[in-house]
Amino acid sequence: MRPLASVDEALELVLSQVPEPRVEGVDLTAARGRVLAADVVADRDYPAFPRSRVDGYAVRAAEAGAGAELPVAFEIAAGTAPSRPLPPACAARIFTGAPAPAGADAVVMQEHCEPHAGRVRILRAAEAGQHVVPVGFESARGDTVGRRGDVVSPALVGALAAVGAARPAVAARPVGRVVATGDELVAVEELPGPGQIRNGNAPALRAALVAFGAVDGGSATARDDRASLAEALAFALAADVCLLTGGVSVGDYDLVPAALEAAGVAAVFHGVRLQPGKPLWFGTRGNTLVFGLPGNPVSSLVTATLFVRPAVRRLLGLPAALPGPLRAVLDGPLARGTWRRRYDPVRLVHRGDGVLLARPVRYRGSGDVFGFALADALAVVPEQARAPAAGDEIEIVALSAAPG
Ligand code: AMP
Ligand code: MG
Repeated sequence: MRPLASVDEALELVLSQVPEPRVEGVDLTAARGRVLAADVVADRDYPAFPRSRVDGYAVRAAEAGAGAELPVAFEIAAGTAPSRPLPPACAARIFTGAPAPAGADAVVMQEHCEPHAGRVRILRAAEAGQHVVPVGFESARGDTVGRRGDVVSPALVGALAAVGAARPAVAARPVGRVVATGDELVAVEELPGPGQIRNGNAPALRAALVAFGAVDGGSATARDDRASLAEALAFALAADVCLLTGGVSVGDYDLVPAALEAAGVAAVFHGVRLQPGKPLWFGTRGNTLVFGLPGNPVSSLVTATLFVRPAVRRLLGLPAALPGPLRAVLDGPLARGTWRRRYDPVRLVHRGDGVLLARPVRYRGSGDVFGFALADALAVVPEQARAPAAGDEIEIVALSAAPG
């Protein structure tokens, strides 16, 4: 048998199969949080006219020393354009956001002026350029306003709006579908009979996909037989990302790898030197990424975090890894490392002095979704590491991180 892949090798294999993001145009107001698929450039100079920053009087600075008295030739409100240049030795009444008239090189704010009977007295000498934003000062025509790969923030929405990019091209959100497998599963609404359990993984994995930034494409449940698996796969393989859970191990009823290959999914790897999550299976069919996740609730969520999240992030146009690596100070002991890399659930606590603590949670193994639900991060215990002790600085992986 082929040796199991390491976590890093497996992740590299997954990422090597991620297709280029699909691109779609979206309404600007819905673009927040999406990733630009192309640069956006300014369609003209900004400002497009010399813009007054204040309410006051447009003047020639050379004619507007302290004590000067100038006739007010005309008025320019925001949204209008001056119809003629500023006549010599005159001022023009002007308001914030209005275009300064040709000839004017400064605006004196009204707090520094005394208007009287069609004239204005300048109380504080004007300096050339004051309170006038020159054409193109904020962004020149052709300047890059948003770059491919930028996550659209509310401020970037504003910048895109300013240059008229009403439907920016962004990476499409991948659609994720889940297939839960197992004869023991009943719906969450049902009371389990003898030997049965509620299907917790399907809602958990759908929630994980959404948390990663994918679109929830729904789920199907398959029994441990080929026909039922084939039917569920016909539904799920239409997605960009297809997650199966259960049936990937080596038991007599672990039919998922064979069912996937029968459905035309090409295997890339099966098994990772990882705890929890050793049975992980990964393959592709066309552009669809197919993950056979273990059935144990914790294993399925840990493998989703380690392998599905980076793939979804790539599909979203984001870097595969979250910003990091994240480190924390362990707040209690963990068991020593073994032959495979281990990810132990911890809760992050801000100690108040800037130190991030990782506190091991009460956790009873990969079937214990209740203990796992207390955690918000995973502590990494490398292969063969000595037992990590309280006070040790360790690498951690955040479980719930918003895309971006
Ligand atoms: P399997 O990988 O199919 O051998 O399942 C491993 C363990 O996970 C078994 O105890 C299953 O009952 C449990 N399990 C499998 N699928 C689910 C599911 N959808 N929800 C909750 N537990 C599951
Ligand atoms: Mg099973």
